[in-house]
Amino acid sequence: MTFFCSVCNGFSKLNVNCPKCNHEAKDCGRLGDFMGPYSAYLAIDELKNTNGYPDLINHQCVHLAYCESCHLEFHKMISETEHNNI
Ligand SMILES: [Zn+2]
Ligand SMILES: [Zn+2]
Repeated sequence: MTFFCSVCNGFSKLNVNCPKCNHEAKDCGRLGDFMGPYSAYLAIDELKNTNGYPDLINHQCVHLAYCESCHLEFHKMISETEHNNI
């Protein structure tokens, strides 16, 4: 059994509106990528534990969303979907 984020894998769009102006926000990728997937200091699972969200435990992927209308950046949690034997 595996869990993965359907947005990261291109199966669905990040469907989120800006909490400030309600404009459709744009997906800027998962948060971990911005800290550097090849960080010399931390492994990816350690990054997941240190970004302030319990996403590793809850199978959630934290995405950075950006509103082009009011230039607000915010985080959106995506629940990772469970898949059997793909
Ligand atoms: Zn994701
Ligand atoms: Zn906005």
